[in-house]
Amino acid sequence: MASEAEEQWALLFDSTRCVGCRACEMACSDANELGKSPDDIFEGRGVNDARALAPDTFTYVTQHDVAGMPGTAVFGKVQCMHCIEPACASSCPVAALEKTPEGPVVWHGELCLGCRYCMMACPFLVPRFEWHSRNPEIRKCEMCYQRQQEGERPACAEVCPTGALKAGKRGELLQEAWARIAERPRDYVHHVYGEHEAGGTNFLHIAARPFEELGYRANLPTDSYRSLTRPAMATIPYVLNGLGVVLGFTAWIAHRKHQLTRDGYDEGDEGREP
Ligand code: SF4
Ligand code: SF4
Ligand code: SF4
Repeated sequence: MASEAEEQWALLFDSTRCVGCRACEMACSDANELGKSPDDIFEGRGVNDARALAPDTFTYVTQHDVAGMPGTAVFGKVQCMHCIEPACASSCPVAALEKTPEGPVVWHGELCLGCRYCMMACPFLVPRFEWHSRNPEIRKCEMCYQRQQEGERPACAEVCPTGALKAGKRGELLQEAWARIAERPRDYVHHVYGEHEAGGTNFLHIAARPFEELGYRANLPTDSYRSLTRPAMATIPYVLNGLGVVLGFTAWIAHRKHQLTRDGYDEGDEGREP
């Protein structure tokens, strides 16, 4: 699986090159028709404010002070990590989330039950649900799958003015990440976030500070979460079948009761043939 992943589409975020301009957030909104205006992005809550992913926010940039170094800031970027073996997909009982052969993890609305198992399973807490919609969707970054199929780069990587975001094949980006660390070892922590986290991801990060200081989840297992969710999900067909039997029996009882009532029998008549 890991060697297949090396050929897949991926993104590299180099925190040392990020200036917090948030052009990537604006481009993401435009490319995905999320409805944000420049005022929403640039006049609203900023890189220093607490923010979260949302149905209309597939990514955001964060700024962090460095202890003991006043005036120095480091940046992080939050979005779907496009796990090599995504727990969101393996936890979905109807395969509404798919790890595509090209790498991005995408959502198929026509299959989704709205059970939200994917939200609970994701180790990076990424998928969001449209709680206030009559026809709610699971919403998250799909690594601009359509754009990439048409030969374009993801919108955020396309627009980034400093090269902090780079699109490419995972294997090549991983090599480049380690080459940058080797060239300037004092400027980076010796860790490519996403190389091994949760079994590896197609979104890789390098930075000058330990990733927990950038708000990233630390100490994630290096086994994929799919291997953890698969045994539990293997029971789902039996649970659904069992549920079907129970619901079918309940429906039969309700129907039977309705039939008896319609035909003039009440509960005191139980045991009599209609
Ligand atoms: S980060 Fe979460 S939503 Fe994205 S692919 Fe991994 S498990 Fe799925
Ligand atoms: S890859 Fe596309 S959808 Fe994902 S954060 Fe970048 S612009 Fe948004
Ligand atoms: S566009 Fe590039 S430099 Fe600007 S905030 Fe996004 S990643 Fe950082």
